[in-house]
Amino acid sequence: NNRVCVVTGGAGGIGLCISREFKKRGAKIAIIDKDKIAGEKILEELTSDGSECIFFHGDISEKSALESFADEILKTFRNVDYLINNACISNKGILSGCDYDDFNYVLKVGVTAPYMLSKLFRDYFSKDGCIVNISSTRAVMSQADTESYTAAKGGISALTHALAVSLAGKVRVNSVSPGWIDVKANFDESYYNNHSSEDKNQHLVKRIGIPFDIARTVMFLCHPDSGFITGQNITVDGGMTKLMIYNGDDGWEYKN
Ligand code: NAD
Repeated sequence: NNRVCVVTGGAGGIGLCISREFKKRGAKIAIIDKDKIAGEKILEELTSDGSECIFFHGDISEKSALESFADEILKTFRNVDYLINNACISNKGILSGCDYDDFNYVLKVGVTAPYMLSKLFRDYFSKDGCIVNISSTRAVMSQADTESYTAAKGGISALTHALAVSLAGKVRVNSVSPGWIDVKANFDESYYNNHSSEDKNQHLVKRIGIPFDIARTVMFLCHPDSGFITGQNITVDGGMTKLMIYNGDDGWEYKN
């Protein structure tokens, strides 16, 4: 109750679900998102009971946006309990010609911004403060043409244990690696029926993930009962990355 939870990319997808779940438990939410319309909408929802929340319209690749966002939070709430580094995008990779600036942009959003926000809030975390970074199963495996995103995810995974060591005794730092999460499930509960049986069955739990699967793991990591967990990554992928497939298994055929 009355905790302050900072969520990057909190106006859409997984970040929106994380913002709503923390709000349900009485936290004050501070969101930065580049989507102004979605941000204003979620701010209206979060403050409809009169509670204080922040929506800052900005792009986290920009240092000045991060500084102004942190400034506004510290002026309003004085300290921070949870920092959820969630926002990321992909600019694809080497096969489709992802160039210097496109590549660096993804690294700024996916790695530099999480580092900078951790630095800006470093001296303002409360006693049970936590950072949770949203990585991806793509930090450890790849599809072709995904270098920008995959490098960012490898970066945020390594950033997680580095920060956990540097902030030892002050802030616990962990990451969550989602697998395939259908963000439409935030709005459409019939999501479950929209996927083919093949798509469902390649997950050991026989379904595609929903944002709530990730939000719940983030909340678990932030809970004081998880106080012995730091520097860790939890994969939340329905077991997809544990399924080893050989040519001929389950009718699967290698055609290349
Ligand atoms: P999404 O695109 O649905 O939502 C991302 C939100 O972040 C949007 O509101 C967007 O406006 C905002 N955002 C993006 N770039 C921004 C920037 N530069 N500055 C400010 N706001 C920005 O994405 P999602 O699927 O919810 O993904 C959230 C996190 O989960 C990402 O780190 C993503 O890599 C990770 N992830 C998602 C999946 C999945 O299947 N959805 C799988 C693995 C990891």
